[in-house]
Amino acid sequence: MRKPIIAGNWKMNKTIAEALEFVNDVKDRVTTTEVDAVICAPFLALKDLKEATKGTNIKIGAQNMHFEESGAFTGEVAPAMLKEIGIDYVVIGHSERREYFNETDETVNKKVLKALEVGIDPILCCGETLEQREASQTKEVCKVQVEKGLENVSKEDLAKVVVAYEPIWAIGTGKTATAEDANDVIAYIREVIAGLYGELANDVRIQYGGSVKPANVSEIMSQSDIDGALVGGASLAANDYVELVNF
Ligand code: PEP
Repeated sequence: MRKPIIAGNWKMNKTIAEALEFVNDVKDRVTTTEVDAVICAPFLALKDLKEATKGTNIKIGAQNMHFEESGAFTGEVAPAMLKEIGIDYVVIGHSERREYFNETDETVNKKVLKALEVGIDPILCCGETLEQREASQTKEVCKVQVEKGLENVSKEDLAKVVVAYEPIWAIGTGKTATAEDANDVIAYIREVIAGLYGELANDVRIQYGGSVKPANVSEIMSQSDIDGALVGGASLAANDYVELVNF
């Protein structure tokens, strides 16, 4: 059985004070142990969030990291820096990072491998643009992104990787894939992983992301292959986050 994982991606939102106000509001309402409830916050808030969520069911993730251990990479954050403060997850290869910060399948793969090496579970994002969808390239795009992202991931580490299928045209637009469409692509992504790892693919959690909100989360989560959601906008409001996690 794959444990559902609902992760909020706050993107570049919330100061430390706002982040703490949020967790203090939600922490006693996120009581389920049947779902992994995650908040992926800006770097500056991570340490305080880890401390504020100690003893609760909320896990904390980063939204990016560098793949090198240390060195002359001005402005970057190293894997060990996240590990030191107990970060549980790290989002890797979000489409905004691919689009605005030149992330490639190669750097995404290096980051996935490094996260696993230091003991942080990567959330590996994939998904097609509207143009690619209209050209019926959705599955091929996801196949390439997932195969390249997982290159050299060992069988032992595979189940620590969470894949997030996020059609770019559905991110922050209010448009969602239908639950059936999302399930179809996610089932295909599982087949791609099975092509690489056989039955171990059944242990990999695959999320859907793209305008998920309290009103549609239960329909999305009722699909056979969808194991969770990566949620941007709707994860910023405390009451919505609680509803999402308690889908
Ligand atoms: C995201 O940022 O990963 C995302 C899916 O955003 P939204 O839920 O706002 O579409």
